Amino acid sequence: MRPGKQTEAHSSGNCAEVVCSNSFKSKRLDTASGLLKAELEVLGCELLKIARSCEVPAGHALAVHRESFSSAVTKAILEHPKITLIHHEVFSVPFTPCIIASGPLTSEAMMESLRGLIGQEQLYFFDAIAPIVSANSLNFERIYKKDRYDKGEADYLNCPFTKDEYLAFVNALLAGEKHQAHEFEDKFFSGIKFSFYENCMPIEEIARRGIDTLRHGVMKPMGLEDPSTGKKPYAVLQLRTENRDYSAYNLVGCQTMLRYPEQRKIFRMIPGMENAEFLRFGSIHRNSYLDAPRVFNPRLALQKYPDVWVAGQLAGVEGYVESIALGLLVALIISEDLRSLPDSTILGSLWKRLTTTCEGRFQPVNANFGLLPELSDPPRDKKLKKEQFSRRSLEELKSLFGLV
Ligand SMILES: Cc1cc2nc3c(=O)[nH]c(=O)nc-3n(C[C@H](O)[C@H](O)[C@H](O)COP(=O)(O)OP(=O)(O)OC[C@H]3O[C@@H](n4cnc5c(N)ncnc54)[C@H](O)[C@@H]3O)c2cc1C
Repeated sequence: MRPGKQTEAHSSGNCAEVVCSNSFKSKRLDTASGLLKAELEVLGCELLKIARSCEVPAGHALAVHRESFSSAVTKAILEHPKITLIHHEVFSVPFTPCIIASGPLTSEAMMESLRGLIGQEQLYFFDAIAPIVSANSLNFERIYKKDRYDKGEADYLNCPFTKDEYLAFVNALLAGEKHQAHEFEDKFFSGIKFSFYENCMPIEEIARRGIDTLRHGVMKPMGLEDPSTGKKPYAVLQLRTENRDYSAYNLVGCQTMLRYPEQRKIFRMIPGMENAEFLRFGSIHRNSYLDAPRVFNPRLALQKYPDVWVAGQLAGVEGYVESIALGLLVALIISEDLRSLPDSTILGSLWKRLTTTCEGRFQPVNANFGLLPELSDPPRDKKLKKEQFSRRSLEELKSLFGLV
């Protein structure tokens, strides 16, 4: 629809405008983003080839010259014999076979149309994301398993605070430096005043309401006595598993607008998280996305309208490379009738996550090793372990496509 109608973040009329950072993250195979890129390469991803041709030096990251990248993608599309590029806003979901990839800043008319098809509660307008940490970086001498009043299967981990630890943590939250929101996001957030979205309020804002607000709210210790002492801690921060093999945990209620280095520093003050490894940092921003597990069929099309596919960030992933990956995946599903990918691949795991029922509010997912099934004989060394994840993934992917 650009340049005739812009979004709040885009400014050109070209395709693939990279609106914020120009980095597609790491190329290294001991990172999940590096592995995802290697998988895309195996699958013949055109966008990645273009990105490499526009690469600018950025250490081990794949960073692109944004104008060159955008121009090259536009040129490839314009020159493609089977593509006609039409610069118009699409106001409603067309009832012909289509792929909707209108992104995190999908126009209001299209959102309205999608809402009519799948329902208000299956469409989200913004993200309130809490950080995710890897299980093997947690200190289980301090952290214990327990559900509140033992109602449940002990799915939660609990980080118990003493009074001093709690006060230090709250004060650090109050002093933490915040990420500078885009102007439109500022307007958006002041507009909603968090009234309707109370449960997505940043933890540092809740802390600002009073020193005890957190321990009377999301950090309340009731029913969470520490089994080692039998006593109720002063406050408790709970961690909820992100996956079935309990290798990654979400910090309950810790959605935040703090800068990433601040998050690393402050959340490591949580008892038992002194050495926490962050698989994803928290954030809050405008983001349109679908409640993927509840609306998709296994082919990433809408359950009720199986000729309507959704790709890119709107489908429930987060990040440039993840959005590119979803585009390629939907293309393979449609053109090659692809039915599955190995669970050991990041792309296969993203696909699985988008189509597998989850408890509670679905949150967009990005490439991280926590999505992958554990190795049969994992080495202790973290870097080695990540490299082995990557080797396993690429071997299985290549073997699926007869490339070995
Ligand atoms: C402000 C902001 C900053 C971000 N920064 C980063 C970052 O630094 N790193 C990172 O990895 N990810 C970042 N993301 C997240 C995400 O990875 C990118 O938004 C990514 O570009 C998403 O790709 P996409 O193809 O799904 O959507 P987009 O790249 O947004 O493409 C969707 C296109 O659809 C168009 N469109 C929308 N509605 C309609 C309609 N009704 N009719 C016709 N066209 C329509 C839009 O104009 C847009 O051109 C950011 C997101 C935002 C919003």
